[in-house]
Amino acid sequence: MNLEQKAITTPLVELKSKLFDSHRVKVSIKLDYMNHPEVQGNKWHKLKLNLLKAIDDNKKTILTFGGAYSNHIAATASATQSLGLGSIGVIRGDELAKNKTRWSSTLQQAEQNQMKLIFIDRQEYKKRNQPEYLRQLQKQYPEASIIPEGGSNALAIQGFQELMAEINEQQPTWTHLYTAVGTGGTLAGLYCFANEGLNNDTNRHINKTIYGVAALKQGEYLVPQIESWITACSLKQTVNNSTNWQLLTEYHDGGYAKQSTEGKNFQLNFEQEFEIPLDPIYTNKAFFAFFDQLKSGKIPPGSEIILLHTGGLQGRH
Ligand SMILES: *Cc1c(COP(=O)(O)O)cnc(C)c1O
Repeated sequence: MNLEQKAITTPLVELKSKLFDSHRVKVSIKLDYMNHPEVQGNKWHKLKLNLLKAIDDNKKTILTFGGAYSNHIAATASATQSLGLGSIGVIRGDELAKNKTRWSSTLQQAEQNQMKLIFIDRQEYKKRNQPEYLRQLQKQYPEASIIPEGGSNALAIQGFQELMAEINEQQPTWTHLYTAVGTGGTLAGLYCFANEGLNNDTNRHINKTIYGVAALKQGEYLVPQIESWITACSLKQTVNNSTNWQLLTEYHDGGYAKQSTEGKNFQLNFEQEFEIPLDPIYTNKAFFAFFDQLKSGKIPPGSEIILLHTGGLQGRH
C-alpha cells in the first residue's frame, strides 16, 4: 500500500441486459474493489488519510473497532502490516475470545496480518464512541491512533474526494448512484464530493441522487450521524442543490451478515450474468435494491445509473 500515490483508477464498465434496454436506462458498475486485494474498495479511501495522519503524528499502532465480519478490521490489519505499523482490533463478542474455531475468515486473516485482537462483550462495545471510554483506551495504548468503528470519521469522508473525481471524469452525466451502507461514512463522503471535478455547467445541473442501501436492520438510526458528517463537510465543500442523497432501509435482507434465499439467488444470477463477484453482506444488497427499484418503475427512462462495487470480497467465504 503506497499512501503517497493516488489509488489506481478502477474501471467503470457498462452492464448490458435486456432488462435495462426495456427500461431505457444505462447501467454501469464501478469496479472499485480492484483498487487493492485486501484494503479493498471503500476501505482504501477511508483509511488512507487516517494512516497518513497516524504516521505524521508519530503513532506506532492503529486501534480500531469492529464485529467478526468487519471488512474494516481486515483492511486495517493488512494496511498497517504493509506499512510497518502495528494494529489492535477491539472486537464485539467476548464469546469469541476462547473459541477460535468460530472465528470468521475476516478475523483469521486479521490475526495473520499481526493484528492484536481484543474481544469485549456487547455491553462494553456500546461504549466505543464515548469520550471517557476512548480516553481510557488512549491511556492504555498511548502509541495508538484510535479510529472509530468502520473507519468512519472526517478524514475518511475526505478520502472520497479522489473517488468521486474519478467517477465524474468517467461518466459526468450519471443520475443515480447506488452504494451499500454500514456506518454511512461512505454515503456521506460520496455525497460531499458528488460534484467534484464537474466543471461543465450542464453536468453540474443534472439531478443526481446517491442511494445508500443499509446492510443492517432498522437503518434509520444512521440518518442523524450521516447528516452530521454532511453538515461538517459542507462547511468546506459546496454541494449544489440538484444533488441529493437517500438512505434505503428496506433491503437489509434479514439483517447484518444475513442472507435470504432470494438474496442468494439474486447474487448467483448477477454473478453469472455479468461475471462480477459480489459479497453477500454489502454489495449484493445494494445492487438488489437497484434492481428492485428499476422493476417497480421508480427509475425513469434516460437515467444513468452507477453501481458502486465497494469491495468486501475477502469476506465471501
Ligand atoms: C464497510 C463496507 C461498506 C459500508 O461502508 P460504510 O462507510 O461503513 O457505510 C460497504 N461495502 C463494503 C464492501 C464494505 O466493506
